[in-house]
Amino acid sequence: MFDPADMVFAIPDDDLTYYSPLPETADCLSCGLCLHTCPTFTLFASQEETPRSRVRTLRKILFDKQSISATEREHLDNCLQCRACETVCPSKMSYAAQFDQAQAQLAQPPSLFAKLALTLIAHKTWRSRLMPSLAFYLRSGLQQPIRRSGLLKKLGLAEAEALLTNPVLKPLATHYPSTRRKLGQVALFTGCITEHFDRASLHAAIQLLNAIGYDVIIPLSQGCCGAIHQHNGFNATALIKNNIAIFNALNVDAVVFTTTGCGAMLSEYEIEDTSAADKFKQRLQDILDFLLEHWPDDFTLKPLAEKIAIHEPCSQRNVLKNQQTVYALLAKIPALEVIPLADNALCCGAAGTYQLTHPENAQQLCKLKQQVIKTAGVTQVISSNYACAAFLNTEHNSVTHPLQILAQQL
Ligand code: SF4
Ligand code: SF4
Repeated sequence: MFDPADMVFAIPDDDLTYYSPLPETADCLSCGLCLHTCPTFTLFASQEETPRSRVRTLRKILFDKQSISATEREHLDNCLQCRACETVCPSKMSYAAQFDQAQAQLAQPPSLFAKLALTLIAHKTWRSRLMPSLAFYLRSGLQQPIRRSGLLKKLGLAEAEALLTNPVLKPLATHYPSTRRKLGQVALFTGCITEHFDRASLHAAIQLLNAIGYDVIIPLSQGCCGAIHQHNGFNATALIKNNIAIFNALNVDAVVFTTTGCGAMLSEYEIEDTSAADKFKQRLQDILDFLLEHWPDDFTLKPLAEKIAIHEPCSQRNVLKNQQTVYALLAKIPALEVIPLADNALCCGAAGTYQLTHPENAQQLCKLKQQVIKTAGVTQVISSNYACAAFLNTEHNSVTHPLQILAQQL
């Protein structure tokens, strides 16, 4: 069980020993193939804002054990960790893993707000206690006067506050039985933020799994995947160990996740007990892959005469590499026309907490994506990652999880 007392805000050296051996940054051929995949090179067209240049900085930190300049740090921090560079690198550079290790070495003690946010993300009970106050703030009419007062900007909370939607307060049940002849049971990973802010996708997941013959088990003591901690240089070990222990103890056919950002982290879990980590990863599946694999031959959906576009999150394209499953599943809805967004290879700017730490860069990338959405001529956009969907959702275009469209056509 996760104990907040275990949460240390830096990765001790011992914890780094069981990370997979990484190709050395010296293996970089300086070929430049990664340049045009990189969103910061797209924004700044500068050599310092390329993966190749960041690999040199990573080498300094991790292997030469040298200090880096403030400018090098700034260019490193501008990275969105989208991992597009990894997909084209002939040296198979494990860019993200090296980035995480460097961040762990560079991490400063977090500010009071960052510490509070990391603790709330990690600790379910504290989060659940905060949610009623958040719901009151959103429903009370206080939001507009507080925004106008400029207080949120002064506290550095304006970007985070702008993303808030009404949280769902009621806890999920622990067991949802199949609504047709039972074929098996799966455990559902519910995440930290999505549990309160994307309950519609979780409900859709449960409905679909029940409808194809699977009971859904939701272990209460599961926790955050740890991605936000790890990618910002803080220790996620307690969170990782907790999830591995909780899910490995269940007698289920699979452990499924609904949001690809969490799924990417879960799929790369590593702890010193490698057999426990392997057992967890062997049963882990994107819910979309699970649904496609177990879809009954006689199971049909209602038609939907619409044209929609697919946004392919970086975590799906560059880590899970299963974006074709979304198209295959949505093809089960008769009359639905599905197209990819034109620039799916380019990150939308959300990138986990990047939208909060680098709002200007994130907004520039978001604008590029919004232009593409505008010209696509579709009724809605589909994204399998909650962070991207929440970031791209505007009053002009709705961005929904594919599970919601599928469940609505049951
Ligand atoms: S992870 Fe993304 S932003 Fe970072 S260097 Fe690679 S392509 Fe660029
Ligand atoms: S693609 Fe790989 S080998 Fe080539 S410059 Fe980029 S990081 Fe180096």
